[in-house]
Amino acid sequence: MERTFVMIKPDGVRRGLTADILAIFLRKGYRLLGLKLMRISRELAERHYAEHQGKAFFEPLLAFMTGGPVVAMVLAGTDAIATVRTLMGATDPAKAQPGTIRSMFATAVTENVVHGSASPEDAEREIALFFAPGELLAGPA
Ligand code: ATP
Ligand code: MG
Repeated sequence: MERTFVMIKPDGVRRGLTADILAIFLRKGYRLLGLKLMRISRELAERHYAEHQGKAFFEPLLAFMTGGPVVAMVLAGTDAIATVRTLMGATDPAKAQPGTIRSMFATAVTENVVHGSASPEDAEREIALFFAPGELLAGPA
């Protein structure tokens, strides 16, 4: 079992997609260890996306991510990091496989509805950025 950090981005929350996206992950069978609706500060957005600092899309990305509430969650399951990324689809919705969340719900790379950790290191770093240990259920036994 593995933990991953997932976020429904401001466009997904604003468009009323929270329940649909959550249902996809829960029906798949991941265990929900933490869940919250929150506004993210510029500082948190900068730290979360630190790998993209200096890129042309960095400032617009920060403006987008701080522009409305997000739904942050921690999911656990077998190979959760990779399988969540597969369910999400490619970064650019135009290139996402049919049936994936980004293919079904998004049309622009800049507003692609959902985030998922890319590696075990990213997952633990991102979980710690968004959740205090006491806000999470214990990991799967
Ligand atoms: P995320 O980290 O949000 O799950 P990702 O891992 O699929 O997405 P990254 O390469 O980490 O993709 O990019 C982070 C986000 O920055 C993307 O989700 C997208 O919204 C935005 N982004 C990435 N590349 C571009 C680009 N070329 N032009 C505009 N926005 C981009
Ligand atoms: Mg990424």
